[in-house]
Amino acid sequence: MSAERVKVLIIGSGPAGYTAAVYAARAGLKPVLYQGDQPGGQLTITSDVENYPGYPDGVMGPQMMIDFQKQAERFETDIRSGIVNSVDFSGWPHKVTVDEKTEIEAEAVIISTGASAKWLGLESEQRLNGRGVSACAVCDGFFFRNQDVVVVGAGDSAAEEAGYLSKIVKKVYMLVRRDEMRASKIMQQRVKSAPNIEILWNAEAKEVLGDEEVDGVRVVNNVTGEEKVLDVQGFFVAIGHQPNTDIFKEWLDMDEQGYIKTIPGTSRTNVPGVFATGDAQDKIYRQAVTAAGTGCMGALDAEKWIAEKEVELKETAQGV
Ligand code: NDP
Repeated sequence: MSAERVKVLIIGSGPAGYTAAVYAARAGLKPVLYQGDQPGGQLTITSDVENYPGYPDGVMGPQMMIDFQKQAERFETDIRSGIVNSVDFSGWPHKVTVDEKTEIEAEAVIISTGASAKWLGLESEQRLNGRGVSACAVCDGFFFRNQDVVVVGAGDSAAEEAGYLSKIVKKVYMLVRRDEMRASKIMQQRVKSAPNIEILWNAEAKEVLGDEEVDGVRVVNNVTGEEKVLDVQGFFVAIGHQPNTDIFKEWLDMDEQGYIKTIPGTSRTNVPGVFATGDAQDKIYRQAVTAAGTGCMGALDAEKWIAEKEVELKETAQGV
């Protein structure tokens, strides 16, 4: 079966992917966008977004991503469900395989695959995943109404998760592994002033307890070595993210954490015609608005690159 040929293929459906789609579609490039395994990306598992310009009263993350998608559809982006499993950037056009069967050839590829939640790596955390262990308070908090839960982490995500859960559950224990939090001042203030959030400093989870469901967490104080068991039913991990870039490892330059390297001030990667946007290449800002900004860059860079490639191909054909 011959591969389908497209001008611009966008991989991923967060703010970066949809913004790239809006720009590429308005430039007449007929982009095809594959949504991946989490359509809408990380914002679909967050609650209020209060810092995206243009929403003076804030907006719910899932609603915002519906708005992004609608805008991309308005300009006739071809939005498809499907997961890109592998790529071959050894030649041109670029080859991409979707759902292990569909072959696509793309003149330009815009990578907007984002990042995913990190886990602690405890055996018990894995075993009880989905049975009291979660990385998404907005998705699963409802199940712990009037119960007690643990949130691990001390960044903005952990503070946000703890704040969200505190409105549903009876009590939230926050496990902070150092004696200070990384979260922004305002987020710290919110968790510190919530009456039902208790912060345990220098505290680490050693084991999530329970056979079928979480029924406790064994915690150690990493300064005193003292251990205790918290009687909780939920265990939420909010310790950051890792970029979803494994399938590109063979082809693209990345840093040691797997973030794709781009040429500063552009979305260009080391492979001509392949552009990286959003959290897949950004370990510093990681905001919806910065992701959207780099999505725009990806589309503009791809448009310019395709135009230059067309001139090059024409000149080659004419023997110039
Ligand atoms: P961060 O990388 O900022 O924080 C991760 C936290 O998890 C740190 O406190 C870290 O501890 C802790 N941690 C990491 N590994 C472990 C471990 N093995 N055991 C225990 N604790 C661990 O990630 P976030 O997801 O919180 O935030 C990412 C970015 O997104 C930030 O720029 C943030 O500002 C932004 N963000 C903004 C929000 C908002 O404005 N509403 C909401 C959510 C995120 P330590 O400090 O000791 O390293």
